[in-house]
Amino acid sequence: MREDERYSRQILFKEIGAEGQSKLSNGRVVIVGCGATGSVLASLLARSGVGIIRILDRDYVEPSNLQRQSLFDENDARESLPKAIAAARQIARFNSQIVIEPHVADLIPQNVDSLLGSTDLILDGTDNFETRYLINDYALKNSMPWIYAAAVGSYAVTMNVLPGETACLACIFPESPRGAVETCETAGILNSAVNLVASIAATEALKVLVGARSKMRRTLLSWDVWSNEHAEVGASSPRAGCRVCGERDFVHLAGEGRPHITLCGRNSVQIHERERPVDFAEISARLQPLGSVRHNDFVLKFWREPYEMTLFPDGRAIIKGTTDTAIARSLYARYIGS
Ligand SMILES: [Zn+2]
Repeated sequence: MREDERYSRQILFKEIGAEGQSKLSNGRVVIVGCGATGSVLASLLARSGVGIIRILDRDYVEPSNLQRQSLFDENDARESLPKAIAAARQIARFNSQIVIEPHVADLIPQNVDSLLGSTDLILDGTDNFETRYLINDYALKNSMPWIYAAAVGSYAVTMNVLPGETACLACIFPESPRGAVETCETAGILNSAVNLVASIAATEALKVLVGARSKMRRTLLSWDVWSNEHAEVGASSPRAGCRVCGERDFVHLAGEGRPHITLCGRNSVQIHERERPVDFAEISARLQPLGSVRHNDFVLKFWREPYEMTLFPDGRAIIKGTTDTAIARSLYARYIGS
């Protein structure tokens, strides 16, 4: 397929043009988290012709994702495919002329350089502040632009972070807004709120890649698609005394106090302390008498009432059926090994 034909309607848009399109084809972005927001970001940027799109995600597709996570289908959920792999397969069906780099991984301080490096822009498709602060530290330290985006219920919020120019995430939220924070697990989510915020963020991403920085929004924008309330808070310059922009104190990059076992959505625990490869065939044979087990190249699933364990090739596991980290650790040690 001829590239100029594929992108003709976008090239006609004067702010992009042939020159901008060529910049997009040389552009490299990384999308951290490929759930609802990440699906839309990846889909729009892939269709726009961004040359290299790296997709990071630690999770696998489940039926409850299909209401909003637009890159996935029922087959992906049946196979419990990792989201990064399912996304890469789907994108290849509509644009085989760009490079998609899927990584089934949890972004942590130890792998942040290899997973976020060699890109022009970082996009936020995560669902938690811990990872966002890690991205923020990395971006500020390396002077890389990144775009914060989040949605819950009918509410969506986004901000461009341009190091040295605008406020950063820690300027606006010095502390993680814990406690009363709603999540998709408690407040639900409208797919339209996700698509709105991801569309805005994807457009800002195009501006970064074609060099239209002066057109970028320098506010924290929030929008409630149900109440129709929307607001913008100024974020055009760093806050005096910001730990990250001002003191350049990158505590999240240093990984201080970061747990190896974390709660991961409702009624599930993630264990990522074991960083050595596991042999699915061997484990599968061992678990066969103990419950129901099934694996493909990407995940192994093991059911033993009331628990469901999903194991990835690097030894990381998500255990469903408990929020007790001690129980999760003991199940892991019993069935996978310690
Ligand atoms: Zn800051």
